[in-house]
Amino acid sequence: MKEVYLDYAATTPTEEQVINKMYEAYKKAYGNPSSIHLIGRRAKGYVEEAREIIANYVGADPKEIYFTSGGTECDNWAIKGTAYAKQKKGKHIITSCIEHHAILHSCEYLEKQGFEITYLPVDEYGSIEIAELKKAIREDTILISIMMANNEMGTLQPIKEIGEIAKKKGILFHSDAVQALGSVPINVHEMNLDMMSLSAHKIYGPKGVGAMYIKKGVRIDPFMHGGAQEFKKRAGTHNVVDIVGFGQAVQMLKENDKAYVIHYKKIRDYLRERILQEIEHVQLNGHHERRLPNNLNISIGYVEGEALLLSLDMEGICVSTGSACSSGSLKPSHVATALNIGDDFIHGTTRFTVGRFTSLEDIDYTVDKLKEIVTRLRAMSPTYRERNK
Ligand code: PLP
Repeated sequence: MKEVYLDYAATTPTEEQVINKMYEAYKKAYGNPSSIHLIGRRAKGYVEEAREIIANYVGADPKEIYFTSGGTECDNWAIKGTAYAKQKKGKHIITSCIEHHAILHSCEYLEKQGFEITYLPVDEYGSIEIAELKKAIREDTILISIMMANNEMGTLQPIKEIGEIAKKKGILFHSDAVQALGSVPINVHEMNLDMMSLSAHKIYGPKGVGAMYIKKGVRIDPFMHGGAQEFKKRAGTHNVVDIVGFGQAVQMLKENDKAYVIHYKKIRDYLRERILQEIEHVQLNGHHERRLPNNLNISIGYVEGEALLLSLDMEGICVSTGSACSSGSLKPSHVATALNIGDDFIHGTTRFTVGRFTSLEDIDYTVDKLKEIVTRLRAMSPTYRERNK
């Protein structure tokens, strides 16, 4: 059976060049980077090379990059580390209602400890409104955390503007850039960022490694206590091989990011146009221009997302829906809900994310199958029959 992977936002396959570099690190960089002998120093050299590549790519100083276990740890660290370090100044945090659960659940955890969180709403495209942000800022606001690009809808947020506002008010600004890295130019200074979360497995690197940018001078509490690794801010023996893989994945972005983006757009736009022309009752979600180049999020009217996903899966096509199975009922995701997608459409919310290895033939195969499946599912839908008599 043909296999078509259209879930690159969930994770990406590891690139050959990354695997080769990791293999080299397995062989040569087996020392503990904290050991001061020859073999330890060699491993440290590999780690520092990766740190420099990543720092350069986002316009940071290498000393501002801290390796972690991934985007989730970075998000937890930014939220809780800031809250604990700044609680004497204030206990109010601003975020948005469409953040990743790593942010939202960290905020909910803090709420139980007496912190107050404002969850900014989003407009119909999934963008926060600057006026709403300004209204939400209080004397005791210590942190604003807004994601650079949404993982479901692909909408990009006005990060630079938010950063300017935070800076003027003396509030720390964090952005989860896990989905944006490689698809959107990032410069931590131009964007006025104090902290930023990154993850390797979304950019064709290994899973389980990430990096947090923390601007020089910004003091947040450590999240992991133990040894003196990562400038005494993130304890634990370095995950050397994965860090090396992360560095190599970013090196590939440095050399080819523009070409990757051109490829994503070509494939994604072809998918979008074929679906819009050949399937009725389809709605595009997210912002039409200010969006990730590889993301297409649509709501297909009168079909159930889970049924669609499973039917596509049986044809070897991997996508993601905006629904999550919770306690036996199919509940639309918090992001789809925030966008106010109509009842007949919300359950058919589907995310297609293309990548470096997606071809036009993959898209042709997908759309041909999708048409058949949608027709079959609608034939079984009483709502469809009722609405389209
Ligand atoms: N933030 C966003 C926007 C994401 O899409 C993800 C992954 O899905 C994460 C954070 C979590 O990153 P990781 O999988 O590296 O923990």
